[in-house]
Amino acid sequence: MSEPRVLVTGGAGFVGSHLCERLLCLDREVLCIDDFSTGVHENLAHLRHHPRLRIATHDVTSPLSADVDEIYNLACPASPVQYQKNPIQTTKTSVLGALNVLELARRQGARVFQASTSEVYGDPNTHPQAEAYWGHVNPIGVRSCYDEGKRCAETLFFDYHRLHGVPVRVARIFNTFGPRMRPDDGRVVSNFIVQALRGQPLTVFGNGLQTRSFCYVDDLVDGVLAMMAADPPITGPVNLGNPAECSMIDLAKTILRLTGSRSRLIFEPLPADDPKQRQPDISLARSALDWEPKVTLEAGLLETIAYFDEHLMLGQFSRQAACGGP
Ligand code: NAD
Ligand code: UDP
Repeated sequence: MSEPRVLVTGGAGFVGSHLCERLLCLDREVLCIDDFSTGVHENLAHLRHHPRLRIATHDVTSPLSADVDEIYNLACPASPVQYQKNPIQTTKTSVLGALNVLELARRQGARVFQASTSEVYGDPNTHPQAEAYWGHVNPIGVRSCYDEGKRCAETLFFDYHRLHGVPVRVARIFNTFGPRMRPDDGRVVSNFIVQALRGQPLTVFGNGLQTRSFCYVDDLVDGVLAMMAADPPITGPVNLGNPAECSMIDLAKTILRLTGSRSRLIFEPLPADDPKQRQPDISLARSALDWEPKVTLEAGLLETIAYFDEHLMLGQFSRQAACGGP
Protein backbone atom coordinates (compact mmCIF):
# COMPACT_ATOMS: atom_id res chain seq x y z
CA MET A 1 0.00 0.00 0.00
CA SER A 2 1.31 3.48 -0.81
CA GLU A 3 2.02 5.97 1.97
CA PRO A 4 -0.76 8.44 2.88
CA ARG A 5 -0.93 11.63 0.86
CA VAL A 6 -1.05 14.49 3.32
CA LEU A 7 -2.19 18.09 2.95
CA VAL A 8 -0.79 20.62 5.43
CA THR A 9 -2.47 24.03 5.31
CA GLY A 10 -0.24 26.75 6.75
CA GLY A 11 2.74 24.48 6.14
CA ALA A 12 5.17 27.37 5.64
CA GLY A 13 4.50 28.75 9.11
CA PHE A 14 6.35 28.12 12.33
CA VAL A 15 4.57 24.91 13.46
CA GLY A 16 3.57 23.86 9.93
CA SER A 17 7.15 23.74 8.66
CA HIS A 18 8.20 21.46 11.54
CA LEU A 19 5.18 19.26 10.85
CA CYS A 20 5.97 19.01 7.10
CA GLU A 21 9.54 18.04 7.95
CA ARG A 22 8.40 15.28 10.32
CA LEU A 23 5.81 13.95 7.85
CA LEU A 24 8.49 13.68 5.17
CA CYS A 25 10.64 11.71 7.64
CA LEU A 26 7.67 9.36 7.98
CA ASP A 27 7.74 8.84 4.18
CA ARG A 28 4.51 10.74 3.54
CA GLU A 29 3.70 12.55 0.28
CA VAL A 30 3.23 16.11 1.50
CA LEU A 31 1.34 18.94 -0.16
CA CYS A 32 1.89 22.21 1.69
CA ILE A 33 -0.45 25.07 0.88
CA ASP A 34 0.04 28.53 2.28
CA ASP A 35 -0.80 32.12 1.40
CA PHE A 36 2.54 33.28 2.88
CA SER A 37 0.87 35.97 4.97
CA THR A 38 2.88 35.08 8.09
CA GLY A 39 4.73 32.03 6.77
CA VAL A 40 7.89 32.34 4.69
CA HIS A 41 9.57 30.27 2.00
CA GLU A 42 12.79 30.11 4.06
CA ASN A 43 11.04 27.85 6.61
CA LEU A 44 10.91 25.12 3.96
CA ALA A 45 14.02 26.12 2.00
CA HIS A 46 16.02 23.12 3.25
CA LEU A 47 13.26 20.81 1.88
CA ARG A 48 12.68 22.64 -1.40
CA HIS A 49 14.10 19.85 -3.56
CA HIS A 50 12.55 17.01 -1.58
CA PRO A 51 10.88 14.62 -4.07
CA ARG A 52 7.83 14.06 -1.84
CA LEU A 53 7.10 17.72 -1.01
CA ARG A 54 4.97 20.06 -3.11
CA ILE A 55 4.38 23.65 -2.11
CA ALA A 56 1.48 25.67 -3.51
CA THR A 57 0.33 29.20 -2.85
CA HIS A 58 -3.35 29.18 -1.93
CA ASP A 59 -5.66 31.06 0.45
CA VAL A 60 -7.82 28.59 2.41
CA THR A 61 -10.77 30.98 2.28
CA SER A 62 -11.14 29.73 -1.33
CA PRO A 63 -12.27 26.15 -2.00
CA LEU A 64 -9.63 23.45 -2.06
CA SER A 65 -9.14 20.51 -4.32
CA ALA A 66 -6.47 17.80 -3.95
CA ASP A 67 -6.23 14.02 -3.78
CA VAL A 68 -5.39 13.41 -0.14
CA ASP A 69 -5.85 10.86 2.65
CA GLU A 70 -5.05 13.13 5.60
CA ILE A 71 -5.33 16.86 6.22
CA TYR A 72 -3.70 18.98 8.92
CA ASN A 73 -5.40 22.39 9.07
CA LEU A 74 -2.90 24.87 10.49
CA ALA A 75 -3.54 27.87 8.27
CA CYS A 76 -4.15 30.89 10.50
CA PRO A 77 -1.89 33.53 12.03
CA ALA A 78 -1.29 32.61 15.70
CA SER A 79 0.36 35.72 17.11
CA PRO A 80 -1.98 38.39 18.53
CA VAL A 81 0.01 41.09 16.71
CA GLN A 82 -0.39 39.28 13.39
CA TYR A 83 -4.01 38.12 13.71
CA GLN A 84 -5.17 41.59 14.75
CA LYS A 85 -3.59 43.27 11.69
CA ASN A 86 -6.47 42.11 9.50
CA PRO A 87 -9.08 40.72 11.92
CA ILE A 88 -11.75 40.13 9.27
CA GLN A 89 -9.34 38.01 7.25
CA THR A 90 -8.47 36.14 10.48
CA THR A 91 -12.12 35.23 11.07
CA LYS A 92 -12.51 34.27 7.41
CA THR A 93 -9.38 32.12 7.55
CA SER A 94 -10.58 30.29 10.66
CA VAL A 95 -14.20 29.80 9.60
CA LEU A 96 -14.13 29.58 5.78
CA GLY A 97 -10.80 27.78 5.98
CA ALA A 98 -12.35 25.15 8.25
CA LEU A 99 -15.36 24.85 5.96
CA ASN A 100 -13.23 24.39 2.84
CA VAL A 101 -10.94 21.89 4.54
CA LEU A 102 -13.91 19.90 5.87
CA GLU A 103 -15.61 19.86 2.45
CA LEU A 104 -12.40 18.50 0.96
CA ALA A 105 -12.18 15.89 3.74
CA ARG A 106 -15.80 14.87 3.15
CA ARG A 107 -15.30 14.49 -0.62
CA GLN A 108 -12.02 12.63 -0.22
CA GLY A 109 -12.96 10.50 2.81
CA ALA A 110 -9.88 12.00 4.49
CA ARG A 111 -9.01 12.19 8.18
CA VAL A 112 -8.68 15.84 9.22
CA PHE A 113 -6.80 17.48 12.09
CA GLN A 114 -7.72 20.94 13.36
CA ALA A 115 -5.14 23.13 15.09
CA SER A 116 -7.44 24.71 17.64
CA THR A 117 -6.12 26.72 20.53
CA SER A 118 -6.14 27.43 24.24
CA GLU A 119 -7.63 30.79 23.21
CA VAL A 120 -11.02 29.04 23.02
CA TYR A 121 -10.85 29.23 26.86
CA GLY A 122 -10.41 33.04 26.64
CA ASP A 123 -9.37 34.68 29.93
CA PRO A 124 -10.11 31.55 31.96
CA ASN A 125 -11.76 31.65 35.36
CA THR A 126 -10.86 28.06 36.05
CA HIS A 127 -7.28 26.85 36.41
CA PRO A 128 -5.71 24.77 34.96
CA GLN A 129 -7.90 24.44 31.89
CA ALA A 130 -9.36 21.01 31.08
CA GLU A 131 -11.25 20.21 27.88
CA ALA A 132 -14.61 20.20 29.70
CA TYR A 133 -14.27 23.94 30.45
CA TRP A 134 -16.38 26.01 28.03
CA GLY A 135 -14.32 29.15 28.30
CA HIS A 136 -14.64 32.85 29.10
CA VAL A 137 -14.33 34.73 25.82
CA ASN A 138 -15.17 38.33 24.97
CA PRO A 139 -17.10 37.95 21.67
CA ILE A 140 -16.54 41.56 20.57
CA GLY A 141 -12.98 42.24 21.75
CA VAL A 142 -9.81 42.64 19.72
CA ARG A 143 -8.86 38.98 20.26
CA SER A 144 -12.27 37.63 19.27
CA CYS A 145 -11.45 37.39 15.54
CA TYR A 146 -9.09 34.60 16.55
CA ASP A 147 -10.85 33.20 19.65
CA GLU A 148 -14.34 33.13 18.18
CA GLY A 149 -13.02 32.14 14.75
CA LYS A 150 -11.36 29.09 16.28
CA ARG A 151 -14.43 28.31 18.40
CA CYS A 152 -16.64 28.42 15.30
CA ALA A 153 -14.13 26.21 13.49
CA GLU A 154 -14.46 23.64 16.31
CA THR A 155 -18.25 23.80 15.87
CA LEU A 156 -17.88 23.08 12.14
CA PHE A 157 -15.51 20.19 12.80
CA PHE A 158 -17.92 18.52 15.23
CA ASP A 159 -20.97 19.14 13.00
CA TYR A 160 -19.19 17.62 9.99
CA HIS A 161 -18.34 14.68 12.22
CA ARG A 162 -21.93 14.27 13.47
CA LEU A 163 -23.68 14.96 10.15
CA HIS A 164 -21.27 13.51 7.60
CA GLY A 165 -19.15 11.12 9.65
CA VAL A 166 -15.94 12.97 8.76
CA PRO A 167 -13.11 11.57 10.94
CA VAL A 168 -11.99 14.72 12.75
CA ARG A 169 -9.20 15.27 15.28
CA VAL A 170 -9.36 18.53 17.23
CA ALA A 171 -6.39 19.57 19.39
CA ARG A 172 -6.33 22.69 21.57
CA ILE A 173 -2.74 23.84 21.32
CA PHE A 174 -1.23 25.94 24.12
CA ASN A 175 1.65 28.43 23.64
CA THR A 176 4.32 26.76 21.56
CA PHE A 177 7.79 28.10 20.74
CA GLY A 178 10.96 27.13 18.96
CA PRO A 179 13.17 27.77 15.94
CA ARG A 180 11.49 29.34 12.86
CA MET A 181 9.35 31.77 14.80
CA ARG A 182 9.79 35.09 13.00
CA PRO A 183 11.61 37.90 14.80
CA ASP A 184 8.74 40.24 13.88
CA ASP A 185 6.07 37.69 14.84
CA GLY A 186 5.25 39.60 18.03
CA ARG A 187 4.87 36.65 20.39
CA VAL A 188 6.59 36.91 23.73
CA VAL A 189 9.30 34.26 23.35
CA SER A 190 10.58 35.57 20.01
CA ASN A 191 10.29 39.19 21.16
CA PHE A 192 12.27 38.64 24.38
CA ILE A 193 14.99 36.56 22.69
CA VAL A 194 15.51 39.02 19.83
CA GLN A 195 15.52 41.96 22.25
CA ALA A 196 17.99 40.22 24.58
CA LEU A 197 20.35 39.28 21.73
CA ARG A 198 20.25 42.82 20.34
CA GLY A 199 20.86 44.39 23.74
CA GLN A 200 17.48 46.14 23.61
CA PRO A 201 15.11 46.44 26.58
CA LEU A 202 12.73 43.50 27.00
CA THR A 203 9.14 44.75 26.64
CA VAL A 204 7.09 43.29 29.49
CA PHE A 205 3.39 44.03 29.05
CA GLY A 206 1.37 44.92 32.16
CA ASN A 207 2.98 43.99 35.47
CA GLY A 208 4.40 40.80 33.96
CA LEU A 209 2.68 38.58 36.51
CA GLN A 210 0.35 37.05 33.91
CA THR A 211 1.25 33.43 33.21
CA ARG A 212 1.60 31.12 30.21
CA SER A 213 2.82 27.54 29.85
CA PHE A 214 5.27 27.07 27.00
CA CYS A 215 5.66 23.91 24.94
CA TYR A 216 8.67 23.22 22.72
CA VAL A 217 7.70 22.68 19.08
CA ASP A 218 9.17 19.14 18.80
CA ASP A 219 6.98 18.00 21.69
CA LEU A 220 3.93 19.59 20.12
CA VAL A 221 4.54 17.88 16.76
CA ASP A 222 4.85 14.54 18.61
CA GLY A 223 1.43 15.20 20.15
CA VAL A 224 -0.14 16.21 16.84
CA LEU A 225 1.12 13.05 15.11
CA ALA A 226 0.04 10.90 18.07
CA MET A 227 -3.43 12.34 17.85
CA MET A 228 -3.74 11.68 14.13
CA ALA A 229 -2.51 8.10 14.59
CA ALA A 230 -4.42 7.27 17.79
CA ASP A 231 -6.04 3.86 17.85
CA PRO A 232 -8.78 3.80 19.04
CA PRO A 233 -9.42 7.14 17.34
CA ILE A 234 -10.04 10.20 19.45
CA THR A 235 -11.98 13.14 18.00
CA GLY A 236 -11.06 15.43 20.90
CA PRO A 237 -10.86 18.16 21.77
CA VAL A 238 -7.55 17.29 23.40
CA ASN A 239 -5.27 19.82 25.08
CA LEU A 240 -1.68 19.74 23.79
CA GLY A 241 0.77 21.85 25.76
CA ASN A 242 3.35 21.87 28.50
CA PRO A 243 1.87 22.28 32.00
CA ALA A 244 5.02 24.04 33.32
CA GLU A 245 3.60 27.53 34.00
CA CYS A 246 5.62 30.73 34.36
CA SER A 247 5.05 34.47 34.62
CA MET A 248 6.29 36.81 31.89
CA ILE A 249 8.72 38.40 34.37
CA ASP A 250 10.23 34.99 35.11
CA LEU A 251 10.40 34.21 31.40
CA ALA A 252 12.22 37.50 30.76
CA LYS A 253 14.72 36.81 33.57
CA THR A 254 15.35 33.27 32.31
CA ILE A 255 16.02 34.55 28.78
CA LEU A 256 18.39 37.23 30.11
CA ARG A 257 20.29 34.57 32.05
CA LEU A 258 20.46 32.10 29.15
CA THR A 259 21.58 34.72 26.61
CA GLY A 260 23.97 36.45 29.05
CA SER A 261 22.30 39.70 27.97
CA ARG A 262 22.54 42.86 30.05
CA SER A 263 19.28 44.25 28.67
CA ARG A 264 16.85 45.74 31.17
CA LEU A 265 13.12 45.18 31.44
CA ILE A 266 10.69 47.94 30.49
CA PHE A 267 6.99 47.83 31.23
CA GLU A 268 4.40 48.63 28.56
CA PRO A 269 0.59 48.65 28.70
CA LEU A 270 -1.16 45.31 28.83
CA PRO A 271 -3.05 44.63 25.56
CA ALA A 272 -6.85 44.41 25.81
CA ASP A 273 -8.32 41.10 27.02
CA ASP A 274 -4.87 39.61 27.65
CA PRO A 275 -5.52 36.36 29.58
CA LYS A 276 -4.18 36.54 33.16
CA GLN A 277 -3.29 32.87 33.45
CA ARG A 278 -3.04 29.81 31.27
CA GLN A 279 -2.03 26.24 32.01
CA PRO A 280 -3.18 23.09 30.24
CA ASP A 281 -4.59 20.11 32.07
CA ILE A 282 -3.12 17.35 29.89
CA SER A 283 -4.61 14.34 31.71
CA LEU A 284 -6.56 13.38 28.58
CA ALA A 285 -3.51 13.56 26.28
CA ARG A 286 -1.54 11.50 28.80
CA SER A 287 -4.16 8.76 29.03
CA ALA A 288 -5.51 8.68 25.45
CA LEU A 289 -2.33 9.44 23.50
CA ASP A 290 0.33 8.36 25.98
CA TRP A 291 1.83 11.77 25.28
CA GLU A 292 3.44 14.39 27.46
CA PRO A 293 6.12 16.99 26.74
CA LYS A 294 9.74 15.99 27.32
CA VAL A 295 11.65 19.20 26.63
CA THR A 296 12.06 21.61 29.55
CA LEU A 297 11.52 25.33 29.06
CA GLU A 298 15.24 26.02 29.48
CA ALA A 299 16.32 23.32 27.02
CA GLY A 300 13.82 24.59 24.43
CA LEU A 301 14.86 28.20 24.98
CA LEU A 302 18.53 27.28 24.42
CA GLU A 303 17.64 25.74 21.04
CA THR A 304 15.56 28.76 20.11
CA ILE A 305 18.20 31.24 21.24
CA ALA A 306 20.81 29.38 19.15
CA TYR A 307 18.51 29.65 16.11
CA PHE A 308 17.94 33.39 16.50
CA ASP A 309 21.60 33.99 17.33
CA GLU A 310 22.71 32.28 14.11
CA HIS A 311 20.17 34.08 11.92
CA LEU A 312 20.78 37.48 13.48
CA MET A 313 24.53 36.97 13.03
CA LEU A 314 23.98 36.12 9.37
CA GLY A 315 21.93 39.30 9.02
CA GLN A 316 18.98 37.32 7.69
CA PHE A 317 16.55 39.19 9.89
CA SER A 318 18.07 42.62 9.38
CA ARG A 319 14.87 44.29 8.16
CA GLN A 320 12.64 42.70 10.78
CA ALA A 321 12.41 44.32 14.19
CA ALA A 322 11.00 42.57 17.22
CA CYS A 323 7.42 43.79 17.51
CA GLY A 324 7.13 46.12 20.47
CA GLY A 325 4.10 47.34 22.36
CA PRO A 326 0.45 46.58 21.74
P1 NAD B 1 2.22 30.97 11.94
O1 NAD B 1 1.64 32.32 11.79
O2 NAD B 1 3.71 30.84 11.98
O3 NAD B 1 1.70 29.99 10.80
C1 NAD B 1 0.44 30.12 10.20
C2 NAD B 1 0.60 29.79 8.72
O4 NAD B 1 -0.69 29.88 8.08
C3 NAD B 1 1.51 30.78 7.99
O5 NAD B 1 2.39 30.08 7.14
C4 NAD B 1 0.54 31.64 7.18
O6 NAD B 1 1.13 32.20 6.04
C5 NAD B 1 -0.56 30.65 6.88
N1 NAD B 1 -1.86 31.26 6.60
C6 NAD B 1 -2.49 32.24 7.29
N2 NAD B 1 -3.66 32.54 6.72
C7 NAD B 1 -3.79 31.73 5.64
C8 NAD B 1 -4.79 31.56 4.64
N3 NAD B 1 -5.90 32.31 4.63
N4 NAD B 1 -4.57 30.64 3.68
C9 NAD B 1 -3.46 29.88 3.66
N5 NAD B 1 -2.48 29.99 4.58
C10 NAD B 1 -2.64 30.91 5.56
O7 NAD B 1 1.57 30.34 13.26
P2 NAD B 1 1.91 28.97 14.01
O8 NAD B 1 2.38 29.30 15.34
O9 NAD B 1 2.72 28.11 13.13
O10 NAD B 1 0.44 28.36 14.17
C11 NAD B 1 -0.01 27.33 13.31
C12 NAD B 1 -1.41 26.91 13.74
O11 NAD B 1 -1.39 26.43 15.08
C13 NAD B 1 -2.44 28.03 13.69
O12 NAD B 1 -3.65 27.53 13.22
C14 NAD B 1 -2.58 28.45 15.13
O13 NAD B 1 -3.84 28.98 15.41
C15 NAD B 1 -2.34 27.13 15.85
N6 NAD B 1 -1.84 27.37 17.20
C16 NAD B 1 -0.54 27.74 17.38
C17 NAD B 1 -0.08 28.02 18.68
C18 NAD B 1 1.33 28.43 18.94
O14 NAD B 1 1.66 28.77 20.08
N7 NAD B 1 2.22 28.40 17.97
C19 NAD B 1 -0.97 27.92 19.75
C20 NAD B 1 -2.29 27.57 19.51
C21 NAD B 1 -2.71 27.28 18.23
N1 UDP C 1 3.97 39.82 26.12
C1 UDP C 1 4.92 40.61 26.74
N2 UDP C 1 5.84 41.21 25.94
C2 UDP C 1 5.90 41.06 24.59
C3 UDP C 1 4.93 40.23 23.98
C4 UDP C 1 3.98 39.64 24.77
O1 UDP C 1 4.92 40.77 27.96
O2 UDP C 1 6.79 41.63 23.97
C5 UDP C 1 2.98 39.13 26.97
C6 UDP C 1 1.54 39.23 26.49
O3 UDP C 1 0.93 40.40 26.99
C7 UDP C 1 0.93 37.96 27.08
C8 UDP C 1 2.09 36.96 27.07
O4 UDP C 1 3.27 37.74 26.95
O5 UDP C 1 0.53 38.18 28.41
C9 UDP C 1 2.03 35.98 25.92
O6 UDP C 1 1.84 36.71 24.73
P1 UDP C 1 1.90 36.06 23.29
O7 UDP C 1 1.59 37.14 22.31
O8 UDP C 1 3.18 35.32 23.12
O9 UDP C 1 0.76 34.95 23.29
P2 UDP C 1 -0.73 34.88 23.84
O10 UDP C 1 -1.11 36.15 24.52
O11 UDP C 1 -1.56 34.63 22.65
O12 UDP C 1 -0.69 33.76 24.81
